[in-house]
Amino acid sequence: MTTAKAYATQSPASPLAPFDIERRALREHDVLIDILFSGVCHSDLHQARDEWGGSIYPMVPGHEIVGEIIKTGSHVTKFTAGDTAGVGVMIDSCRVCAPCKKYLEQYCAEGMTGTYNGYERDKTTIAQGGYSTQIVCDERWVYHISDQLDLAGVAPLLCAGITTYSPLKYANVQPGDKVAVAGLGGLGHMAVKFAVAMGAEVTMLSTSPSKATDARELGAHHFVLSTDEAAMKKVSSRFDVVVDAVSGNHDYEKYLQLLDVGGKLLVVGLPREEPKVNPFELIKNRRSIIGSMIGGTVETQEMLDFCAEKKIVANVEVIPIQYINEAYERMLKNDVKYRFVIDMASLK
Ligand code: NAP
Ligand code: ZN
Ligand code: ZN
Repeated sequence: MTTAKAYATQSPASPLAPFDIERRALREHDVLIDILFSGVCHSDLHQARDEWGGSIYPMVPGHEIVGEIIKTGSHVTKFTAGDTAGVGVMIDSCRVCAPCKKYLEQYCAEGMTGTYNGYERDKTTIAQGGYSTQIVCDERWVYHISDQLDLAGVAPLLCAGITTYSPLKYANVQPGDKVAVAGLGGLGHMAVKFAVAMGAEVTMLSTSPSKATDARELGAHHFVLSTDEAAMKKVSSRFDVVVDAVSGNHDYEKYLQLLDVGGKLLVVGLPREEPKVNPFELIKNRRSIIGSMIGGTVETQEMLDFCAEKKIVANVEVIPIQYINEAYERMLKNDVKYRFVIDMASLK
């Protein structure tokens, strides 16, 4: 076992604060990673504050992890010490069910093992995440990272990246397709980058007028202020795909109405409130609503390789871990450009 320094929260109302955790001794297929950067996902905030219910404390959030392999178990084949590697939202799964056999481990029949806010496969050890100096993980859930890319910018690919890449691939987005993205945050800005890289004509739907220039710099061809009813009406029945990456409670029909015949609303945002959907809006244009959870291990590596080839990384604001509670408050005010990433050197 090794002791790692971390930041944890002890209850829904308490701030994150320094906390030591134990990382297990390496099993045959485990690697020990010295964490360099850890992205800050809105899911960290939802779970730290128990917004989805059932949170487990103490909780060390963080599931956008990039670091260096410093030790490998005796049967590890994918990595050697010194490799740059990443860990995302999952660290394990049952490995034998039908989805696991297809490398769709995020849909494991027994439930995937999350990087934090859950128990490891032994059902007793609380899994602790990336706001820490080190992590131990089975190599299947560890990814190769190109060291040609800025590593702080790579960290968010491990959740925000794969969560938007996977549904866009599933929806088979093609050059010329009209794609809209709702919510210009961590996920939303990655969705814009991927949709643009896939050749789509991309429209940003945002509640923040101040983000219009940034949206265009990210590659979006159009910007629509989603609080402007007249502007939203103008783009009704316009899109093949709308990605809903909104973190707060909102009206889903507003985005559904934007879909053309056969259009798909790809839901990745996870606000607390349950949505209401009028079936008449759904049958109009034969629209569908598709939910999507992160991506499997094979697809995550594919996405990272795609990013290395196309030179895609997240736009990040690098922070010391001591700033994490302020970062959460700013995230709640939609004031992130466009992902906070913790420089773990601040904890070493
Ligand atoms: P984020 O960086 O905080 O961005 C969310 C954006 O949503 C905000 O910047 C804002 O964009 C918009 N927004 C917030 N509240 C809104 C409201 N009430 N109405 C309309 N728009 C609103 O969050 P994130 O890290 O990208 O995460 C987004 C959501 O995805 C979270 O709920 C998170 O838990 C979820 N998530 C899901 C998965 C999955 O596997 N499906 C994985 C990771 C995260 P504008 O300023 O442009 O309006
Ligand atoms: Zn996340
Ligand atoms: Zn399984």
